[in-house]
Amino acid sequence: MGDAPEKTRVDEVINVGEGPSVFIVGAGIGAISLGLELDRNGLTNWKMYERMGGVGGTWWTNRYPGCRCDVPVIVYSHSRFPNPNWTETHPSRAEMQQYWQDITEQQNLQSRINLNCNVVRADWDAKRKVYYITVDGPTGRRVVEANIIVSAAGGLSNPRMIDAKNRQSYKGTLVHAADWPEELTTDSLKGKHVVVVGNGCSGVQIIGELGTHKDINITGVARTKQWFVPSDPLRPYGPQKRHSVPYPQAVRTLFNYFPFVQWLIRNLMIKVMDSLFYLYLDKEGAKSRKWVEKRFGTWMTKRLPDYMRKDAIPDHAIGARRLIFEDGYFDALNQPNVKAIRGKVVEFKPESVILDTGDEVKADVVVLATGYDAEVKHFDVTGSTDKTSNYKSNAEWQMYHGISLPGMPNWFAMLGNNTGINHMSILAILEINANYITQLIKNMRDYDVKELSAKKDRAAQYDDWVQKELHRTTWYQTETYWRTGGGKGKIFTHYPGSVAQFGRQNGFPEFEDYDGGEVIAKGRRNRKILRTLLLVSAIVAASYTSAGSAAKDAVLGHVENALHKVYEFTLNRVVG
Ligand SMILES: Cc1cc2nc3c(=O)[nH]c(=O)nc-3n(C[C@H](O)[C@H](O)[C@H](O)COP(=O)(O)OP(=O)(O)OC[C@H]3O[C@@H](n4cnc5c(N)ncnc54)[C@H](O)[C@@H]3O)c2cc1C
Repeated sequence: MGDAPEKTRVDEVINVGEGPSVFIVGAGIGAISLGLELDRNGLTNWKMYERMGGVGGTWWTNRYPGCRCDVPVIVYSHSRFPNPNWTETHPSRAEMQQYWQDITEQQNLQSRINLNCNVVRADWDAKRKVYYITVDGPTGRRVVEANIIVSAAGGLSNPRMIDAKNRQSYKGTLVHAADWPEELTTDSLKGKHVVVVGNGCSGVQIIGELGTHKDINITGVARTKQWFVPSDPLRPYGPQKRHSVPYPQAVRTLFNYFPFVQWLIRNLMIKVMDSLFYLYLDKEGAKSRKWVEKRFGTWMTKRLPDYMRKDAIPDHAIGARRLIFEDGYFDALNQPNVKAIRGKVVEFKPESVILDTGDEVKADVVVLATGYDAEVKHFDVTGSTDKTSNYKSNAEWQMYHGISLPGMPNWFAMLGNNTGINHMSILAILEINANYITQLIKNMRDYDVKELSAKKDRAAQYDDWVQKELHRTTWYQTETYWRTGGGKGKIFTHYPGSVAQFGRQNGFPEFEDYDGGEVIAKGRRNRKILRTLLLVSAIVAASYTSAGSAAKDAVLGHVENALHKVYEFTLNRVVG
């Protein structure tokens, strides 16, 4: 970021299909969902540019031991591409990545995906109504021209490091969970002291997995008390299971021969999971939450080792942070080779780390499972009346529906501000985003609109509504990466409602809310009126032909008058 815009030299103009040219940043599951939807609507003139060496985003990048999805995959797969052959309910990252790679191959997306291409900046040319996008790729720096740019760069793609002294003095191996080196196998960790910093989803999965190896010494270091969810919530005290359960061959055969069964289960699960959103609402969910907190709290205290029991229960409501499936974590904590310390790493020594508690912990390997920096801008964009460098972070943007930023024509975002969810598969949101953005582009093409961006007042109104609604949730009770300013400011990541509500709100764009969208809104209104008129005329004509002559004479005059008025009104609307 910060390089000078390169407007003079254009190395490539996207021209690979039908419709306006679309530059898509990233090749994660959001970008792929968008590519699929654009193709389905005949808008094939797009290319993706991904900085990594493969597709799948999160599922390409995260290779730490134990990495798998924590939402049932039957729900966390694309609605148009059900996979009857999933091997388990919560597959490993490798199986997830393969699924998305297979889709890109089977649907002929591959030839339009450019890998190892880091997008550096995008500059709007107001005269030509195109973006010049600077990309660092395998052949060096290039400038690509496109009518539209969509950022599908993901919210959890920039690893967050820790702020501890003397990092350079550390002689051991320091890795981030999102950047796990291939050579760091569980075999290579045998006999080593491993410190895992963080007890969020990644930290818990890593400890759950490494903890099964008795000859690895593991110390988990984390500041935050978390609400954990039993791997089998219906039988929390039953024989301890991993979160993921293998699909028996019989189930796979059933899904292969009767896809309807898989479809039905998927949709029932979506309905049930989505209906649980109310648990996050401060008032509405209070009673049910109390019941769940009591049950899970008792279970946590019983399952944790003695030394952790005393202050294991968080002060915040369950669901105020992301829920964590324990998935072998508690089993690991009960092993002699694993322990947990509540604290923060403040300093590195050559062979250890120092915590704010004063403890010194031996460390041959330090794993940072410290999450992601969701505030980081992935690249700079200069629009017509605004530019992203005007903001310290993307958290400050007042986005319209998380899709469009005023003053940034033809720049749209997948999973933009305040579109995240906690209680269901994020893919549901991504598919809604993909449909919405496709509608924007399709209508731009149909009505020959060259420039589209949300109106400033509409974006501000929407943002006000989001913030008001967010205050009804329990999410302001804690400091999280969902909030600006290191966890203390406004929530900019999450949507304050169910997926069903998000779907209703984003089913189709309100073009009146867009600068440049008025002509689309008017055109669509007129088409609707004409369609209604034709339908009414057809019904009247049919009734008239089949009526007796007395009735015909009686109604004819009225119908003629009425039709005349309607036509006059319509013509005034269409022409004027
Ligand atoms: C370990 C882990 C487990 C998760 N499990 C679940 C789960 O079970 N269920 C769930 O719903 N969600 C889960 N999530 C959230 C997950 O991020 C989303 O579900 C989903 O992957 C988001 O897809 P995306 O395409 O929007 O973003 P990403 O998957 O992050 O993809 C974005 C892509 O953009 C690329 N990119 C970014 N900047 C640039 C640039 N400047 N130039 C070029 N390319 C760029 C990145 O390299 C990346 O490949 C998980 C997240 C993590 C990290």
